[in-house]
Amino acid sequence: MSEQSITYSLEPFDPAGHRFRVVMTIPRPDPAGQVVSLPAWIPGSYLIRDFARHIEAIDARAGATRLAVTKSGNHSWRIAPCVGPLQITTVVYAWDLSVRGAHLDESHGFFNGTSVFLQPRGAERLPCRVTLLPAPPPLRWRVYTSLPMTDRRLPGGDGFGEYRAANYDALIDHPVEMGTPKVIRFTACGAPHELVFTGLAPNLDLKRIAGDVRRICEAQIRFFEPQTHHAPFLDSSDRYVFMTVLTADGYGGLEHRASTALMASRNDLPVAGCAKAPDGYQTFLGLVSHEYFHTWNVKRIKPAAFAPYDLSRENHTRLLWIFEGFTSYYDDLLLLRSGVVDRKDYLRILGKQISSVLASPGRHKQSVADSSFDAWTRYYKQDENSPNAIVSYYTKGSLVALGLDLTIRERTAGVRSLDDVMRLMWDRYGRDFYAGAGKGLPERAFPALVREATGVDVAHELRRWAYGTEDVPLARLLATQHIALRLKADTTRPSLGARVRSQGDHLTLASVTQDGAAHRGGLSAHDALVAIDGIRVGAMPAALDTLLARYQAGDTVRVHVFRRDELREFKVTLAAPPATDCVFEDMPAGSST
Ligand SMILES: [Zn+2]
Repeated sequence: MSEQSITYSLEPFDPAGHRFRVVMTIPRPDPAGQVVSLPAWIPGSYLIRDFARHIEAIDARAGATRLAVTKSGNHSWRIAPCVGPLQITTVVYAWDLSVRGAHLDESHGFFNGTSVFLQPRGAERLPCRVTLLPAPPPLRWRVYTSLPMTDRRLPGGDGFGEYRAANYDALIDHPVEMGTPKVIRFTACGAPHELVFTGLAPNLDLKRIAGDVRRICEAQIRFFEPQTHHAPFLDSSDRYVFMTVLTADGYGGLEHRASTALMASRNDLPVAGCAKAPDGYQTFLGLVSHEYFHTWNVKRIKPAAFAPYDLSRENHTRLLWIFEGFTSYYDDLLLLRSGVVDRKDYLRILGKQISSVLASPGRHKQSVADSSFDAWTRYYKQDENSPNAIVSYYTKGSLVALGLDLTIRERTAGVRSLDDVMRLMWDRYGRDFYAGAGKGLPERAFPALVREATGVDVAHELRRWAYGTEDVPLARLLATQHIALRLKADTTRPSLGARVRSQGDHLTLASVTQDGAAHRGGLSAHDALVAIDGIRVGAMPAALDTLLARYQAGDTVRVHVFRRDELREFKVTLAAPPATDCVFEDMPAGSST
């Protein structure tokens, strides 16, 4: 071990109590008193999460001498001055089954470094070594991570032993799974990949999943490196790991430089022996595609505001519509290009994305640039008024990407596309990010990059679509590709202008659309629906639909609700159903505008 490494050992010592013990050693602590901290947030998820609150106990020693430890902020501690080495032991409570935290019980252990590894303030650039220790007997687990292992392996060949990271930033970018998951391996463009599934899911069709994921990975590697087909994570890892926790209805993912942590529904995955995959399988493949695309776009091509991350506070950028929105555009497009979905399915997925943007009045009030900046306080802290007040930099960002792609294709007669812009960004900022100066994309550099990559000036479009609140004129732009886009209502049933959710034996208004029927009639979010024209509504959204289907747009109904515990009556004039459903039709060649 180098004198100049920060070392850690991590032991899942109390699975039943959900506790890891972590010992950190700093060879030469700050003589004025070493400060250590836990990140306030985890990169990729833009919310202050205060991981330090899960530290149950902290103890510091230099040799046999116990040192005073003083909490110096929400996330930090100051250790009394000492001559090194300084050893700090923490006990971390891990009972958050999400991709962002840490989780430990008798079935498995999972952690992000942001939850368990203290940051040695002032020594973050030093290389790190981590020894992963096994769980107590009789548990016999294996380790899965994209962290590279050193030759200090514990006997058993199960991955327990020592791992290394170039610095603290690398250390916290490789989550670790330990347990007895289902695993399948494949190579894509020669690069090893591991698919790891934790959670009960009998008869998973692992071979089919691996085959489809491999096609997606190969399409993406070739997209960014059309000449060399070189996978980016091979710079520091020997594999890419998809670690997935399967539950009844999980969904989510978090990207890392050589791995991703996913939550998915077991019911969305194909079962061996069943030829037809569940409908949700495309959703799972879309999630896989999304997180994998981040290996390039946000884990290496980064906004300058993330280079480096400041883990102690919010990091503001107006560019998440590029890093999340463009990723959302390409995740589906690369499903199509890799052949795992066909054109019909692709257009159906695109139509859903367009519909969800059109259903949000907030898109007229907030730009995707402002939504990016305010991710920490608005997108990640949504409430009942969010659909009226904010826009998603994911969904509208993906439509901005589509609009730019179609604009570039139109103005270059199909010679250039947004692909050229992505590859120029990769070349300029991404490929050497970890090996080189680690420079990110400046806030105002994007329009010039588009011009450089394609010769097309999109500054005017970006001002309206990304920095302003205008809709992307998709019908006009799709027509240039001979695709007609028409919007229609998905029902003839009149609209109440509210989203509902089942709550016990009744339906509650989850949100009320501004200027919709419910709003104009006086109904509010959180009202509990009791009856419409004297008929009980019940707890099922379908029963409400059946009731509303008895009426026409323009009819006025009496709605009884409980607001808190007070019965109220409102008169609501039902509206025409909104035309937000997309129909795509091929136009005859030559009919484009
Ligand atoms: Zn993402």
